[in-house]
Amino acid sequence: MKLYSTNNKDLQVDFQTAVFQSMPQDKGLYMPDHIPVLDEDFIKHIDQYSLQEIAFKVGSALIGDSIPAADLKAIIDEAINFEAPVVQVTENTYVLELFHGPSLAFKDFGARFMSRVMAYYLRPEEKMLDVLVATSGDTGAAVALGFLGVPNTRVTILFPAGKVSNIQELQLCTNGQNIHVLEVDGTFDDCQHLVKQAFADQELNAELRLTSANSINISRLIPQSFYYFNAYAQMLREGIKDVVFAVPSGNFGNLAAGLLAYKMGLPVRKFIAATNINDTVPRFLETGLYEARPSVQTHANAMDVGAPSNWVRIMDLFNGDREALMDLMEGYRFTDAETIQAIHELRDKYNYIACPHTAIAWLAADAYQKQNPEKDFASVFLSTAHPCKFPEAIPAEIAAEIKIPALVEELKHRTKQSSALAVNYAAFKQYLLNYNTQT
Ligand SMILES: *Cc1c(COP(=O)(O)O)cnc(C)c1O
Repeated sequence: MKLYSTNNKDLQVDFQTAVFQSMPQDKGLYMPDHIPVLDEDFIKHIDQYSLQEIAFKVGSALIGDSIPAADLKAIIDEAINFEAPVVQVTENTYVLELFHGPSLAFKDFGARFMSRVMAYYLRPEEKMLDVLVATSGDTGAAVALGFLGVPNTRVTILFPAGKVSNIQELQLCTNGQNIHVLEVDGTFDDCQHLVKQAFADQELNAELRLTSANSINISRLIPQSFYYFNAYAQMLREGIKDVVFAVPSGNFGNLAAGLLAYKMGLPVRKFIAATNINDTVPRFLETGLYEARPSVQTHANAMDVGAPSNWVRIMDLFNGDREALMDLMEGYRFTDAETIQAIHELRDKYNYIACPHTAIAWLAADAYQKQNPEKDFASVFLSTAHPCKFPEAIPAEIAAEIKIPALVEELKHRTKQSSALAVNYAAFKQYLLNYNTQT
């Protein structure tokens, strides 16, 4: 597999380089040089395959000989060791539940695959890999659990103290082993800024082998395409061939992965970009003007993004052809009040409890259905997280009904391990440099 930078197609690197670099030096994003189209026969009979089999087929078509088949299969079987079921909600609306992994959010797909690909390329005699992550909650948990116990890696997570939910905090702080956690006395932006300073610090980079685990890493994008194919397989088993996907979006990695699947031959009638009031993309789809804005805080906080980092990938997939993109995609945005109302409606009418992000995807699917009353297709809205991760944003009487998975209940008995950090780069740098004197 060869990849180019979206800023310069002549700059080509191999998969391993793209994985460890995350972002090309020219600040573009890595994209596959060639997008393989899967054979029609496979797609037609995809309902005969399991998620892991589909993942291997899609993954090996993309990654090619950058990882030998048997090794890739082992990576996939270990990384994607949970299911992604499609559950019917109304007559022609289904939910794709992506929260059955260890961190209870869809980011497990990307983080688990990425950590195992990195571990695969690391050689025992090589310098320890230091992964730095700033998180508002979900990314950090998925990355921590993805890298937990992976040899020759160490993860340092920064999160804003007091600004993540109890369950997210448990998932971040109860791991131990190779996972280090810093509770920053500041905002998520402060955390992100500290991490960016570390990457730019030459002295620090001479001491430690730093890598980022953020959502622009190509090895996080690839595994997210797997579940679109697998969702389609499940719809085929229901006898449904014409499918619309509604994707709750922030940085648009999830939707970019869906479009990648589409380019690889997955039949999709429409992609719906569902956002909260951080609606840069819906506005673009309506007006043709792309105008990033500072983010605004909402109940669906994992989608509070004003300048989606994966958008350039989406434009690249369509060679900048806005018309073609607008034919395939529609955008809808919803307010916090609408989100809460949707959580109520889903619970009261359909006995389904959704997290705020999922509720926004449901609203978008529902709005599209109302505008397209013909019943010859079904909508699949993506559920990106288990509702127990966002109890503060869910009406109390509904939050009280959420069944907390045993996986999380168990964390409550563990000791919390984290260190406090002021918003102070010198202190952060010293914390990292101390790793080398400890071991
Ligand atoms: C990260 C996240 C999103 C947004 O996904 P993108 O790929 O950034 O668009 C949506 N919902 C939840 C629960 C998330 O954690």
